[in-house]
Amino acid sequence: LFISIEGLDGAGKSTQMAFMEKFFQQRGFEVLLTREPGGTIIGEKIRDIILDRQHQEMADTTEALLYAASRAQHVKELIVPALQEEKVVLCDRFVDSSIAYQGGARGLGQEAVKAINDFATQGLKPDLTIFFDISPETSLKRIDSKKVDRLEQEKIDFHMTVYNTYLDLAKKDPSRMKVVKADRGITAISKDIEDLLLQLID
Ligand code: C5P
Repeated sequence: LFISIEGLDGAGKSTQMAFMEKFFQQRGFEVLLTREPGGTIIGEKIRDIILDRQHQEMADTTEALLYAASRAQHVKELIVPALQEEKVVLCDRFVDSSIAYQGGARGLGQEAVKAINDFATQGLKPDLTIFFDISPETSLKRIDSKKVDRLEQEKIDFHMTVYNTYLDLAKKDPSRMKVVKADRGITAISKDIEDLLLQLID
């Protein structure tokens, strides 16, 4: 089983990923909890280039291709082997992040970003994607204290486009991508996630 977790920063993804990991482990599944670049040497090097964009003029197209390249390595080196060993793979951000950030917010278009990622992943798709739905305003408030530098860089309309693109993706592919209202207490969110996971392993 391959599950991706998506949403704006500050949506509480990591807390719920720990919950999901426990959910599967208690039922005897082996779990790979991962996020791009997943510790692959090639992926880490690509990530260093992406993060260096503050100091350089990186073309948006370059950024999209680098995310896709890092993802290709992650898929080939970690995700596919884990799936072949019948592990449950929980991935913090996957293709939908690129469609939302690079396709939506950076304006490259959903179709173009989807196309390069179909190539990068060789068509691997999550069985389930959980979108943590919090408003851009809430997201910015929550990350405010932690990530002030990013707050200054990426303005509210950028986050609004990311958010709307995610909602659009969920609307287009409702059987794969489920929206969980994340502007609530941890237990309430976990309960909804548990219901989705029970349906999946049923
Ligand atoms: O590490 P974390 O998941 O919090 O990093 C998320 C940030 O990385 C996003 O807010 C966004 O700025 C950036 N990102 C991106 N494109 C992706 C994935 C992440 O711009 N495809």
